[in-house]
Parts: sequence; C-alpha cells; structure tokens
Amino acid sequence: MRKLDIIKVMDDMLSNKIAAGEVVERPASIVKELVENAIDAESTVIEISLEEAGLLKIRVTDNGKGMSRQDAVQAFERHATSKITNEHDLFRIRTLGFRGEALASIASVSKINLWTSDGESTGTEVHIDGGRLVKHDHAAFRKGTDITVAQLFFNTPARLKYMKTIQTELGHTIDLVNRLALSHPTIAFKLTHYSHLLLQTYGSGEQQRVLSDIYGTAVVRKMIPFSGSNADYKVDGYVTLPEMTRASRNYMTLIVNGRWVKSHAVNHAVLDAFHTYLPIGRFPIAVINVEGDPILTDVNVHPAKQHIRMSKEGELLTLIKEVIRSSIKKSIIVPDAIKKE
Ligand code: ADP
Ligand code: MG
Repeated sequence: MRKLDIIKVMDDMLSNKIAAGEVVERPASIVKELVENAIDAESTVIEISLEEAGLLKIRVTDNGKGMSRQDAVQAFERHATSKITNEHDLFRIRTLGFRGEALASIASVSKINLWTSDGESTGTEVHIDGGRLVKHDHAAFRKGTDITVAQLFFNTPARLKYMKTIQTELGHTIDLVNRLALSHPTIAFKLTHYSHLLLQTYGSGEQQRVLSDIYGTAVVRKMIPFSGSNADYKVDGYVTLPEMTRASRNYMTLIVNGRWVKSHAVNHAVLDAFHTYLPIGRFPIAVINVEGDPILTDVNVHPAKQHIRMSKEGELLTLIKEVIRSSIKKSIIVPDAIKKE
C-alpha cells in the first residue's frame, strides 16, 4: 500500500507564533520593534507608556507618516513591508526595519489596538486579537500612529512564565530606550511606567544633550569628544575620562548608520584605547557613532537586528582605537605608559 503524504505548509497563525519566539523575547523587544517603526515613519515625537513593565500594556504613539486604511491591516501580514521591494534594496538598507515580520509576530501573541492616519483621509482603527482581525473601521485620528499591545503572551503561557520581575523587565526597556534616544537625538522621546516618568529627551539634535538627559550633567562634564575617518568610515562620539567609569561595560553604545548594535570587537577597541589607564574592572561610558556606505554593513544577520557584519572591520577597529586614544591623550595628564608608545 502507498504511504500517505504527511507534510503540510503551516497556516499563518502557526508560523507567526513560531516566528514570534525569535523576535518577541520580552516586553523590551516589542518596544524596540514599535519604536523602530515610529522612527522609520519619520516621527519627531515618540511616547512610550507601559503598565506592568509592558506585560499588561505597551503603548507607543508617534507623529510620523501614519498608514492608509488598507495598509493598517496589511502591516500585520507576514513579510509585509513598505521598506524594501527587491534584493537590491536588501544590501542598501537605510531603515531600521525591513523584514516585515515584527507586527505579524507581535500580533500573534498579544491583543492589539491601532489608530493611524496618513493625513490624506480620516483615520483607521484596527483591533487584532491573538492574530485574528476583529475590527477594521473608520476613526477620527490625527496624522501619525498610536498602537497598544496588551496582554502580552496571553496565549503562550510558557513564555509568560519565563518573564523576570517587573524591575528586570523595566530595566531592559529603559536601557533600550536610552540607546534609541542616543541614536536619534533629533527625536523627542518620553518613556513612562504607570504615568511615572522614566526618561525624557527633547529632540534638540545634540547627542551631548541626550547623554546628559540619560546620565546627568556630572557625567557629561567628564566626557570628551572624538572624531576621525578612514577611506570607508566616519567615526565620532563621546567617551568619559578614566576618572568617570562604571563597573559594567554596558554603558558603551555603538551606533552604526543610526542603528544601535552590539559588538564585542568595538567594545574591545574602546577599552584598548585607554590602554593601562582604566582601573581594572572599570569601564567608560561612551557613545560611538559610525557612518559608512550601507553596502559595507550586513544587518540581515539575526531577526532582532542587534548584530551586524561589517566589511573592513579591522581598519574600522583601528580607527576607533586611534581617535579615542588621541582624544584621551590630549585631555589628561598622560602617564608615561601611554606616552612611550
Ligand atoms: P518592517 O518594519 O520590517 O517593515 P513591521 O512588521 O514592523 O515590518 O511593519 C510593517 C509595516 O507597517 C512597515 O513596513 C510600515 O509600512 C508599517 N508601519 C508599522 N508601524 C508604523 C508606524 N508607526 N507608522 C507608519 N507605518 C508603520
Ligand atoms: Mg518594523
């Protein structure tokens, strides 16, 4: 007897839920996707408000481009994006998003209310419940988008159980919004938890001002600027002098073409720049901005887009190390150890 065929392509509800496992790790990952969408929509004011560190509610409002009535539903389809259209675009990405996966994934593990308007017609209201569209209607709304993600992981109990304390989850989100604000100094950000203000920046365009909004003026007074370039990359930023350090390396922020990314190699180059001048177990507070042709960086490495591959990385690391070292040398009384090199 012939064996029956048993392989089936999954339906969208199931595949979205599986994809959500990769993109939606915790409340902070949702805040990241929603805020990145608001940034890509060219917003200048972005407000994030949370309840139960985001497990109960995450609301992000922006004054960006908004969406048309059709797009407001289409946005929740898997692989639906307005940001790239062909393979050529994939290697020249200038937006933070491009995978067209985030909203579909988030919608499959939460309850979503969306209000949006592109300013062309009256607004649109959309409700989605665990991936199912339950409302798609006209609604009066100004230009921009207001999205609420409620009851995160209500239908994936295992993931909900895995969540850490409110304080830990909140810490992850504050850290994230700090970095997003640092990478976008022209945008005014506001983050609140049950109306309690956690961070506010003003969109003045000055990164130094954002540093001071996050870390305080005492820290910024101990920071020095650095800048330089090679044939492929331009590097600039701020770094604290050795007298103002932290016990964790988590205060170093790397921003490549406007995207906050993590790189051990760059952290290492920054520490190397200090040579022996940094006390053991202490790390600087730093923001390192790198600009280069997008063709040199591959952001399509992981769904969360936190790691990238950079061409000519060796040269870039040398550049970072040299510009920071020369700024430090100029600003402190140089000990012999550094001078002799
Ligand atoms: P991606 O950002 O990778 O394109 P998403 O699932 O995050 O995928 O979003 C899908 C689409 O929905 C985006 O490409 C964009 O067109 C639209 N969108 C999402 N959020 C917003 C927003 N805040 N303002 C305007 N458009 C948005
Ligand atoms: Mg996105």
